[in-house]
Parts: sequence; C-alpha cells; structure tokens
Amino acid sequence: MKLRARLRFRWLNRQAVGTKLKLANLFTSGVVILLGGGLLLVLQTWFSGAALLEQTRNEAAVAGENLSAAIIFNDQASARDILASLKADADVSHATVLDAGQAVFATYARADLAGSTAPAVLGGDDYRFSLRRLSVSRPIVYQGKQVGTIQVDADLASTYRRTGWYVLAIALVMLPCLLIAHAVLTRLQRFVTAPLHALARTSEAISAQGDFSLRANVDPSADLGLLARAFNAMLDRIEKRELALECEIEERKRVEAKLDRLAHFDSVTGLHNRHFFHDRLAAAVAHAQGFEQRAVVLFLDLDNFKAVNDTLGHDTGDELLRVVARRLTESVRSSDTVARLGGDEFAIILENVADGAVADRVARTCIDALAQVVRIDGNDIYVSASVGISSCPTDAVDVPTLLKFADTAMYEAKGAGKNTYRVFHSGMQGEARKRFAMNGKLRRALEQEQFVLEYQPQVDLASGRIIGVEALVRWAHPELGMIGPQEFIPVAEETGLIIPIGHWVLETACRQLKAWHDEGRTGLRMAVNLSARQLTEEGFVDTVLEIVRGSGADPRMLELELTESMLMDAGEAFIARLEALRGAGIMLAIDDFGTGYSSMSYLKRFPINTIKIDRSFVHDLPANEQDKAITRAIISMAHSLRMQVVAEGIETSGQASLLAAHDCDSGQGYLYSRPVDADRIGMLVDAEKSGASGLAAA
Ligand code: C2E
Ligand code: MG
Ligand code: MG
Repeated sequence: MKLRARLRFRWLNRQAVGTKLKLANLFTSGVVILLGGGLLLVLQTWFSGAALLEQTRNEAAVAGENLSAAIIFNDQASARDILASLKADADVSHATVLDAGQAVFATYARADLAGSTAPAVLGGDDYRFSLRRLSVSRPIVYQGKQVGTIQVDADLASTYRRTGWYVLAIALVMLPCLLIAHAVLTRLQRFVTAPLHALARTSEAISAQGDFSLRANVDPSADLGLLARAFNAMLDRIEKRELALECEIEERKRVEAKLDRLAHFDSVTGLHNRHFFHDRLAAAVAHAQGFEQRAVVLFLDLDNFKAVNDTLGHDTGDELLRVVARRLTESVRSSDTVARLGGDEFAIILENVADGAVADRVARTCIDALAQVVRIDGNDIYVSASVGISSCPTDAVDVPTLLKFADTAMYEAKGAGKNTYRVFHSGMQGEARKRFAMNGKLRRALEQEQFVLEYQPQVDLASGRIIGVEALVRWAHPELGMIGPQEFIPVAEETGLIIPIGHWVLETACRQLKAWHDEGRTGLRMAVNLSARQLTEEGFVDTVLEIVRGSGADPRMLELELTESMLMDAGEAFIARLEALRGAGIMLAIDDFGTGYSSMSYLKRFPINTIKIDRSFVHDLPANEQDKAITRAIISMAHSLRMQVVAEGIETSGQASLLAAHDCDSGQGYLYSRPVDADRIGMLVDAEKSGASGLAAA
C-alpha cells in the first residue's frame, strides 16, 4: 500500500510543473465542489425529511381529530373513510388506528400496497425514520382523554427521487465548473510556468554552449521574476568566476607550457634538451628493436666554442649556438631529433636508418654546414664540430652505452684533428678506456708532483749564444719513465686538467727564471707554452700576473707561446687580454707558425713579439726550394712587422746557416741541445760565459 502511494507520488514528481499545478487545482476545486454539493445535499435531505415529518404529523393530527368520534362510537366504517382521505397524499403508504385497548380499529394502505402488511405501530406521540419510510404516531384524544392511537407511514421513495434529481443537478453544475476551472487554470498556469521555462531554457542553453553571458528574459517584478533576478545575479557571479577561472586556467596553461618547454627544450636554442633527448632516444631504441630497424646517435661537440664564448662574450656565444642549432636542424629530416645536451654539445637521433652510409652522409652534411663562416656583430666566426656516431642495435641496445660509444667516437674525431666524424667501432673502447685511465693518472700525477720541466735553449743564430730557453713539460712517471707532452697534453686539454698543469708549469718556469737571474744569468729569457683552454679561462691575465709577481721574475723576460688557431676566432676581448699581458711587459710568441691558417697580415691585429717558424719548414732545408722561399718570406715579413723570428727544430748546421743567412734571429733544435733540466741549462750558460760553449753545435 505504502509502495503504491510512493509510486504514485513518484509519477507525480515526474510530471511537469504545469501538469502538477493543473492537477492540484483540479483536485482542490473538485473537492470544494464535492464538499459544497455534499453539504447542500445533506441540507436538502434534512429539509425534505423535516417537511415530510411536518406534513405527515399534520395529516395524522387532522385524521386523529376526525377519528375520535368514530372510535367512541365504534364506527369502524367511518374510521376507514376518514383514513381513506389520506390517499390525497401520495407519500402516505399506510395508516393504522388502534383503539384504547391497542387493538387495530381501522387500517389504510395505498392502492398499490393493498394486501401488504402494515408496519408495526410505534405508539405514543412519536416518529421514526427508517430506510424506506417515516412513521408518525399520535394519540387520539377525546375530551382530554386518549381514546386511541393513529400511525401514519409515509414512503420515502419520492424524497429519494428528489434527492437523486438534486445530485444530478449538482453534478451537472459541477462538471462545467470543473471544465471552466481547467480552462482558466490552463491559461493561468502559463504565467507560472513561462518564467520557469525561461529559466530552464537558459540553464539548458548555458549547459550546452558553456556561455555564461546568457540571461533569462523574465519580468523581474513578480515573485518568479525575483527568482529569475536571483538566477541572473547568480549567473553574473558564475560568469565572473568563470572568467576569472578562465584567466587563471589560461595563466596556468601558459605557466605549464613554459615549464614544459623548460623541461623539454633548451632555452637558448629552442632545441630539445638533454632530458627530452634521453626519453626520445629510449623510445627510438625500443622502436628499433621492436621493428628490427636501425637507430643512430650522432654526438657533436663544437671544437672552438669556448674561445668564442670567452673572447666575444656570452651573447655572441648564444647567438652562435642558435646558428649551429639552425644549421643542424636544416641538415636532417624533420622526423629526426636534434638536441642540445648542454654547453657546446649537440646530439642527433636518426630513426629508421637504412644503412651506415646514411649516418656518414648526415655527419658530413652537418660538418659542412657548420664549416660555413658565421657573421655575428661584424665578427667572422669559424666553428667546426667533431662528431661521434653509434648505432642501435649494431653497437648497443641501451641508451647509456649508445651514448658512451658515440662520445668515445667523438673523442676519436677530436683526436684525429677535429672538424671530422668517426663511427664507433669496438677497437675504440680500449682507447677510450686508456684515455679515461690517463685522466685519473694525470690527476694523481699533479697531486704527487710527478711533472717536471725541461728547458730547450734558444740560440742567437748570428752569435750562437743562448738567449733564452723554452720550458717543456714532462711527466716523470714512476714506472713508465719520462712521458712526453704530446701523450698527455691533449687529454689534459679535454678534461680541463691543463688549467692546474699550466698553472704549475708557469709558476715553476717563472721561479726558475728568477733563480737563474739571481744567479747572474741575467740575459736569459723564458718561453712558456699556453694551451687554448688556459687563454680562455676566466681571470687568466690576473692569474699570470699574480704568478709572475709571486715568483719575483722579470715579466719582460717571460714569453708566452700561443698557436695560430688560438688567434683564429679572436675577438676584442681576446685581444684585450693579450694587450694586458703585453702591458705588463710579457712577450708573446706565435708557436708552430705556418701550420695554421693565419696570414702574416692577420697577425698585425695582435701584439705579437715573436714568430716561431714550425719545424716542418725547417726540416727539409736547405734542399727544399719551396721551404726556403717560405722561411725567407716569413722572416722578412715578420721583420717588417717588427717581430722577432725563431726557427724551430734546427737539427743540422746547414739548416742553421741558411736560416742565419736569411736573417732569422734565433733558433732552437737538437743541433744545439735537446730539452734538458735546469741544472744543465745553468751549466751551458755558465760555460758560455767562461768562453767555452757547451752547446752541441759549438
Ligand atoms: P713546441 O712548443 O713546438 O715545442 C717544441 C717541440 O719540438 C718539443 O717537443 C721539442 O722537444 C721538439 N723539438 C725541439 N727541437 C727539435 C728538433 O730539432 N727536432 C725535432 N724533431 N723536435 C724538436 P715536446 O717537448 O715533445 O713538446 C711537444 C709540444 O708539447 C710542444 O711543442 C708544445 O706544443 C707542447 N708542450 C710542451 N710543454 C708544454 C706546456 O708546458 N704547456 C703546453 N700547453 N704545451 C706544452
Ligand atoms: Mg713551444
Ligand atoms: Mg713549436
């Protein structure tokens, strides 16, 4: 029962507000009309009953008065006649007269009821309503004394009939009333539902379009209008919040995009960064294995970026990196990945590569693209790159090993003279390991002071006298003996160990110079080799001046040897450094002159004092005409630029006399002396002073 009621209510709940309103109103007006009709019916029934009672009583009273004589005279026939007069009232069904002894004296029955038994007599002055009739009983009195009783029974059928008609009349009135109410309500409920529908429509439209600027168009004066106004006000607030939220989301998206860029892209070049590169390479390796394809990693390291960065400044350095990034990107397919791993390191992933020749071709293209001159702020900058290549699955099937192999191959390329590429092969592993071991050993050698300096005399070619020495570093290995600089300087340059080693060399050489001078060998000059890495080191000039000052050596007797390649990309900052050194009295020499690319006129830009002709030009003298011409040209041009000339690698007296004939200022080579220790130099100089030369050539 409860469930049914609940189901009914659920059905009602599901109905539209209009329907609910209509039903509620119809129910209410129906109930009101029914109650009204019912009340009228009750009143009507009561009035009819009362009227019937009144009338029947009157009839009984009139008949009773007329009957008293008939009873006293025991005249039953006239009694019956008197009763028969009741037939004028169609409602009277029976009448019975009892005498004083309660015996039936006379009866009457309506014609249609003749023969039926009369209802029981009530007696006394009484009446009773039963379902079918009204019985009224009255005493018959004669001269104050009851002589009998009369009972008149009235049939209720006609009363019922009248009531029936009455109900019908009420129903006939109620039905049109309900219909009219329905029609009126249907019209009226629109006033209620229209604003609700407007609100609903607006809500739906907002949900569908997400446009919080929509508003419900409802007259705001009525109560639903108030609701609509509240609704619109709420929308205002939501719209505002939505806008604020949108702004916030936009902002958050921007920040997230920025973070994403930072997380995956290099901020200088816009290329992918190391992090992204690793992910991408891992995916490429997985793909290559899954689909039996080949993926290739190219590891690029710019050969002379640091020099550019340090001499021309970081802005130029960044611009150069961007140019490199652009050129690399243009050198590969759009599906390949180009990344900057940091500093001057770049890497490329080639996926789905047909054969090894593709990697070679890409490496070549990249190297050629980078070899083009870069012009930034009026400076012509030359960069080159060393490239190492490793492949998956041929070389390795995991990211760290692939990278390590590409790195190894890259170092091979650097060792092979830079500006080239090398494809990894298993033989390189040993060399890489050797280099790795070498680095560790060098570090220890520095700690344990295993480095020593030897000095090679520089001789004035005209007089044959020692005018200076060049300091050359050696590694006095406890087991392997003396190790030459060619074997460890390149590794030290790669790892940065050249900085502390160079520091030690300069300091030791300066102290030695000071010692010699203190010992009276005052004419000696000291030449010290510098590596590019040292020159580009932050605070290099200050360090040099500090060392010189600390040692007490005369800076004017110190000569620092640079190579042509260091001057190649020199900018204003680099020249300023050289000027600062010169300003302090320190001399500058160009070592191995002729092996680089710089022309003599190019040297004019630099405050150079000395040019050292590379021994490769000296080697074939005096026979080689071309070398003869070259050395002569170098000497005369250097002199015209007020530079001194030192010839390196003089091994024969023929070489020495030819160079002397060409006005070369001084020479250095095995002809005079191999690099020797400081004591030996002291002895040689002292011997010279005493008139006897200890030099081999003498
Ligand atoms: P370099 O500065 O050109 O030094 C001259 C090299 O030629 C020395 O080799 C020397 O022993 C060698 N040499 C001298 N006379 C002759 C000769 O008549 N014939 C031949 N064939 N060779 C001769 P070393 O000592 O092996 O040094 C090699 C290079 O290592 C140097 O070339 C220099 O570039 C570098 N180096 C040496 N010491 C240092 C140092 O302290 N710092 C730096 N950065 N580099 C250094
Ligand atoms: Mg040198
Ligand atoms: Mg040299």
